[in-house]
Amino acid sequence: MAKTLPPAGKLWLVGAGPGDPDLLTLRAARLLESADLVVHDGLVGEGVLALIPAHVERISVAKQRSRHTMKQEMINELLVRETLAGKQVVRLKGGDPFIFGRGGEELDAARKSGVAVEVVPGITAAAGCAAQAGLPLTHREDASAVSFVAGQCKDLTDQDWSGLAGHGRTLVIYMGLATAPAIADKLIADGVSPGLPVAVVERGTTKDARVLRTLLTDLGDLVAREKVASPALIIVGKVAARADALDCLGAPGVANSLKDIACES
Ligand code: SAH
Repeated sequence: MAKTLPPAGKLWLVGAGPGDPDLLTLRAARLLESADLVVHDGLVGEGVLALIPAHVERISVAKQRSRHTMKQEMINELLVRETLAGKQVVRLKGGDPFIFGRGGEELDAARKSGVAVEVVPGITAAAGCAAQAGLPLTHREDASAVSFVAGQCKDLTDQDWSGLAGHGRTLVIYMGLATAPAIADKLIADGVSPGLPVAVVERGTTKDARVLRTLLTDLGDLVAREKVASPALIIVGKVAARADALDCLGAPGVANSLKDIACES
C-alpha cells in the first residue's frame, strides 16, 4: 500500500552562512547532499554552491537592490509547488534564514499550504563578519547591547534608530552600502558622536574580505573612496576600534584618532 502513496516532499529553509563553505552547519551540508532541488539566493557563495552534487537540480532566484529577478510571491509558489510534487526542496539562503532573509514569509507560505517544513539556522553575516574581523560585537568594557538593522533606502527615513547606537552599544547595519552617507547623517542627527568608530566588512569570511575602519562622520566618504562593494556590513560602536582591520583608511588623522579611542578603554 505504502508504495502507491505519492512521495512525501519536504521543504527545508537552510542558512548558508556568510560565505565561507566551512561555516555551513553539518545539517546544511548533509541536506545539500540529499536534496532533489536547491533554490538559492545570489548571496550564497560559490564555495557553498560547489558543494551541491551535480545531479541535484538548482534554481537561482538571485535578487538585486533595484531589480527583482523573481518576486517573493513567485518564490513562495515555486517552493510550495515543488514540495507538493514530492521533492526534498532546500531553500538555501545567505546567512541565517530569519535575519533579513524573508525566511519568515516562506515559512508562512509553506505552513499555509500544509507542506512539511523545517528551518536550519545559519551563521548570520553580523556574527560571521565580526568574528572574522576580530571584532567582538559585545565586550565587557565597550558594549552590552547589540542591534541589527536594515539600512536600505526604502523605509530608512521612517525607521527609529534612536538609542541603538552610542555609549555601551553596537549597531550592525545590513544592506546599508548605498545609503551609507544618509545612515551617518541619521545617526549623528540622533545625537550619536561623529567620532564613534565604524568598521565596514566587505565580503566577510571569504578570501576577498576587506575590513575598513573609520569614524562615523567619514563613513559615506570611506565607502565611496574605497569603492566598497556588496555584500558589506557596517558596524558602528566602540568595539569597531578593536577590529583587526587590514587597513585603517579613514580621512587624514583618522588612524591616530582611532588609536586614541581604542586606548581610552
Ligand atoms: N540572511 C542574511 C542577510 C540577508 S540581507 C544573513 O543572515 O546574513 C543581505 C545583507 O547581508 C547584505 O547586503 C550585507 O549587508 C549582509 N551580508 C551578507 N553576507 C555578507 C558578507 N559575507 N559580508 C558582508 N556582509 C554580508
